Amino acid sequence: MKRDFRLPCLLLLLLTSISAFSAEQTAVWSEYSKRVELSRYVDYWQEPDEATDISHVAGLSADAWTRNGSDSVNLGYGPQVFWFRVALENATASEANTFLEIGYPVLDHIEVYFKPDDQSQNVLVLGDKQPFYDRPILHRNFVVPLTLAPFEKAEVYLRVKTTSSMQIPLTLWNQDAFYSVEQSRSMFEGLYYGIVLVMILYHVFVFLAVGERSFLHYVVFMAAMPLFLASLHGVAFQYLWPEAIWWNDQAIIVFLSLTVLFGSSFTLAFINVTRKNHPLLNRWTLCIAGAAGLMAVAGLLVPYQYLILPTILLAVIGCSTLLILSIVRWVKKDPAARYYTFAWVFMLFGGIVLAMSKFTMLPRNLLTENATQIGSALGVTLLSIALADRLNKDKKRIFEAQQGALREERKARIAQAKTLEIQREANVLLEERVRERTRDLERLNEQLLELSSTDALTELKNRGHFDRAFQAEVVHAYRYQEPLSLLLLDIDHFKQFNDSHGHLVGDDCLKMVARCVRQLVTRPQDMAARYGGEEFVVLLPNTPHKGALDVAERIRKAVAAMAFELSGQTLHLTVSIGVCTELPDNAGATEVLFSRADEALYQAKANGRNCVVAWATPSEDATPATTQA
Ligand code: GH3
Ligand code: MG
Ligand code: MG
Repeated sequence: MKRDFRLPCLLLLLLTSISAFSAEQTAVWSEYSKRVELSRYVDYWQEPDEATDISHVAGLSADAWTRNGSDSVNLGYGPQVFWFRVALENATASEANTFLEIGYPVLDHIEVYFKPDDQSQNVLVLGDKQPFYDRPILHRNFVVPLTLAPFEKAEVYLRVKTTSSMQIPLTLWNQDAFYSVEQSRSMFEGLYYGIVLVMILYHVFVFLAVGERSFLHYVVFMAAMPLFLASLHGVAFQYLWPEAIWWNDQAIIVFLSLTVLFGSSFTLAFINVTRKNHPLLNRWTLCIAGAAGLMAVAGLLVPYQYLILPTILLAVIGCSTLLILSIVRWVKKDPAARYYTFAWVFMLFGGIVLAMSKFTMLPRNLLTENATQIGSALGVTLLSIALADRLNKDKKRIFEAQQGALREERKARIAQAKTLEIQREANVLLEERVRERTRDLERLNEQLLELSSTDALTELKNRGHFDRAFQAEVVHAYRYQEPLSLLLLDIDHFKQFNDSHGHLVGDDCLKMVARCVRQLVTRPQDMAARYGGEEFVVLLPNTPHKGALDVAERIRKAVAAMAFELSGQTLHLTVSIGVCTELPDNAGATEVLFSRADEALYQAKANGRNCVVAWATPSEDATPATTQA
């Protein structure tokens, strides 16, 4: 058991002695050295208030200095001025041409003293309070060329005064190695800023095309974040504002605040954190955004050293809040929040990796040094995907809504067509009904007309009808110069007949006489009518005098031949007929024609009844002709 303990104890002792030994060592530049991290070899000394110069500092006793001893030099924020010392040794037989890189580009004021005993070496003043082009090597970090003679030992002193945090990452480079690594660094940076620039342009165009405000917030957020990183990494000082010494510090405040401000506003819009669904978180985030906005404005007015710590605090609170928001929305099943959470995790992860590498919990290499850029590029890409996804979903929703509207419209159109069809059918039915009704009405009208022109007792035409027809026939005869004949019939002694046999018998006899007249008036255009009482008229168009006499005579004979049986008695009736035939010499010749026929009838009565008397036309015979049984 004892032996088992001894080996680890020995190893521990060995390790402590090695580290103690190496702590006292100078940084050795060997034949194969490409890059030596110097943090472990750094001693620092805080400058007291009174003025000090390099000769005093170089002459300080060894115990005045504090050994840094760790893999990073970070003395935090504060107004103090620090001196740093590192001993170098060229272990090669040739001259070593090296670069000393101070890898924190926001340090304000650095005085570099190389070999303070050597009067030929001048003090080199660096820091971002000097114009960029005053640097010996034009690089975003501070790079100092140092030449070590073969087997030379030399010391480098740095006097650093800064409002930023007192971080002094020191690296000694082989010059060729520096430039070759610089290629990769530049490529990484170019890649990052290229990606971000393309994304910004792309989203500006998307915003112009779609007009959604969250895209604009996203664009400003996406522009502010790389500008903050570029300011922090000295890239902005190198390329964008190499002379703007004051602004170079302030830019960090302004762009970090803008990143928080627009990150917040974009997040609220993008993952739908509204006053309705998350009143508390919404108000809290708005407060952060408001504070960030104030901080951005303050960044233009108030010096850096008063703002940097509150800004960092605000950024930490802001980032945590946004991460919480995205997780809450993810839990609430907002599809956009999933991508969004990943994007934030990437971006925060980048920052955490950078911080860890600064505190040497992770090794310094190309990946860890560019972690923020890598994280932010991945985050930005993811957010773009998320935005595109949301745009797609919106488009799909709009498309579906349109489809729905189209379906509804089609339904409405079909319903309308159906209604129209029903209406059309109803119209057809209605028209059919109207036609039927009209037909019925016409029929009724005809019947009515027929009734109104028919004598109820004898069923011959009545006097009204005769008057109209007579007028029309006279006009026709006048126009075509055709002869028109008129017969006037009167039953003889009918009063007496009535008186003897009663009116009912009289009526029956009237009917029989009428039937007889109708049977003998055969031509379609001829017309027999009851003129009144026991008087009848017969109108014979286009019938000459002789023809009219024949008809009259046939009627007279037929009536006379008729026998009426009445309770064993046989009764007889006779008629007297006046005839007149004319070629009318004017359209109003009805009266003349009628009065002449009437005159002839009167003559027939006077002649002893039961006879036909004609009013002879002047062209034929001036005197009325008489026929008798
Ligand atoms: P005349 O030979 O001169 O024509 O003698 P008459 O009696 O026929 O002449 P009058 O004009 O004096 O008499 C007509 C009679 O006809 C009167 C009436 O008794 C009879 N009469 C008229 N209309 C009707 C009728 O509708 N029904 C019946 N039963 N008799 C009628
Ligand atoms: Mg009479
Ligand atoms: Mg009579």
